[in-house]
Amino acid sequence: MEPSVCGEDDIVRWFEDVTEKAGSVQTQTLWRILELNFEVEYLKKWLGDIEIQEVDACVLESLYTSLVPLASHADLEPYIHRIANGESGPILTKQPITTLSLSSGTTEGRQKYVPFMRHSSQTTLQIFRLAAAYRSRVYPTREGGRILEFIYSSRQFKTKGGLTAGTATTHYYASPEFKIKQEKTKSFTCSPEEVISSGDSKQSTYCHLLLGLFFSEQVEFITSTFAYSIVQSFIAFEELWKELCIDIRDGTLSKRINLPKVRKAVLDIISPNPILASKIEACCEELEDLDWFGLIPKLWPNAKYVYSIMTGSMQPYLKKLRRYAAEVPLVSAEYGSTESWIGVNVDPCLPPEDVTFAVVPTFSYFEFIPLHRQKQDYNLVIDDFMEDKPVPLSQVKVGQEYEIVLTTFTGLYRYRLGDVVEVAGFHNGTPKLNFICRRKLILTVNIDKNTEKDLQMVVERGSQLLSKSKAELIDFTSHADVLTQPGHYIIYWEIKGEVEERVLGECCREMDASFVDHGYVVSRRSNSIGPLELRIVEKGTFKKILEYFIGNGSALSQFKTPRCTSNKVLLSILNLCTTKRVYSTAYAN
Ligand code: AMP
Repeated sequence: MEPSVCGEDDIVRWFEDVTEKAGSVQTQTLWRILELNFEVEYLKKWLGDIEIQEVDACVLESLYTSLVPLASHADLEPYIHRIANGESGPILTKQPITTLSLSSGTTEGRQKYVPFMRHSSQTTLQIFRLAAAYRSRVYPTREGGRILEFIYSSRQFKTKGGLTAGTATTHYYASPEFKIKQEKTKSFTCSPEEVISSGDSKQSTYCHLLLGLFFSEQVEFITSTFAYSIVQSFIAFEELWKELCIDIRDGTLSKRINLPKVRKAVLDIISPNPILASKIEACCEELEDLDWFGLIPKLWPNAKYVYSIMTGSMQPYLKKLRRYAAEVPLVSAEYGSTESWIGVNVDPCLPPEDVTFAVVPTFSYFEFIPLHRQKQDYNLVIDDFMEDKPVPLSQVKVGQEYEIVLTTFTGLYRYRLGDVVEVAGFHNGTPKLNFICRRKLILTVNIDKNTEKDLQMVVERGSQLLSKSKAELIDFTSHADVLTQPGHYIIYWEIKGEVEERVLGECCREMDASFVDHGYVVSRRSNSIGPLELRIVEKGTFKKILEYFIGNGSALSQFKTPRCTSNKVLLSILNLCTTKRVYSTAYAN
């Protein structure tokens, strides 16, 4: 049923077909997962000795959801640890697990092991090709062109039991599927494998930029996993362009690249090109005066679009990305996680703010826990949401918010992903999801609860006032300080440009007044939450945070700035780099 090797029209036709009958495809998907794994220890514990072959698929679906409980990562962790430690029996899957992925952990502050199988890179290839097929209908690209990809593998290592571990993106870049993708789509990354897997993100970024410029005429689009990487790379470019031009003119490679394998691979590709170097220099001089507005079309004149995840915690980078891209369209990329791919963007012409993801019903078995935001009865609330019983994909309702639950081919059963989504509509019979936030990521002091999305909205409003001073927000995070009395929120900003303390005070007041959460409003009025504090951190602080995460095994490709943190190391970086503090004074809400 699933197309392993087929053309763009075939893959779209296949998707149209499976989404027409999404409900029954889901029942079949669950049946296949259970047929493959029904004898494993975890399922036996809940399902006993059911003879799968003898049970009708629909009956199996209701048996499964009534007998197997919902699970968090913590519930499955003991099983995953046994696998990591080398136990080889059928614990979660019948097929042995030889590779483990690390989910980025930047959202929950802790990295988690998740099983990775061939199926994982196959679905990655499948969703990339499906998305590419939808994109090429709107933005056709030339065959044989190149892609400027800001992608990074991180270190792979062995667990105690000898399994290979690393991030899912790292496993994918090392898989045969990644090579098939390049060959099938006949468009190649500008950088060779040695650059992608150098293990030093600064050196990789320099080489991505250099090779991207060297092949600039051929670049058809610019991409990265998360939009953050593109923005960071162009921020680096603002400082590096003169050095890059020397390398292009002379066919040399800057001394900052000191990894022999990377040096050799890059020097084998480039050759002196003084005409191109002069052209880039002239463009950059012009761009500097424009504060780098339109950098992408100027330097990559054939780039048709910029493609990356721009939703969720990436939204704050859109403003900066739009400056670089000018008229070049921004296309928001797919929705997935280390645990499973989820949905594809079938409307690539929509601006990132309006993008939804059509669930691919063959990838995993999806359930949806209806969530209701709590406004009044705080004593009953343990989270900021009340939940109903999970429903299957075929029963979701437009306008309703849900937490996603996954049953995967890789041994996760009724696993709560922790993402909150809203059903925005349907593509045939499959829901189109709007990503709302990570459920656990909430800023709270007492009865107040603010999600990542709430915080984003507040910061967006506060930072609008920076434009008066011609300054801009580079990045932000927050912390609920409960050690002082009364507790209060601290928002950390890194900004570009000089801003008077008076203006910062206005920004801070604006943010304080923009939290609409009832718990916050009530607590601020009664002063059981103190005035909001805005701390300005010095230039480069968020880069230090990124380096801290990368040093702890995260891959740049998967990095997401934590929007709220209690991590001691992070807080000490932030506090050491704080240059100014302002408080919101009057609270009139
Ligand atoms: P990881 O833990 O590194 O596997 O990251 C997966 C998480 O990244 C998901 O659970 C989401 O919270 C977030 N994410 C992935 N894709 C998107 C997207 N297209 N839009 C918003 N958030 C996303």
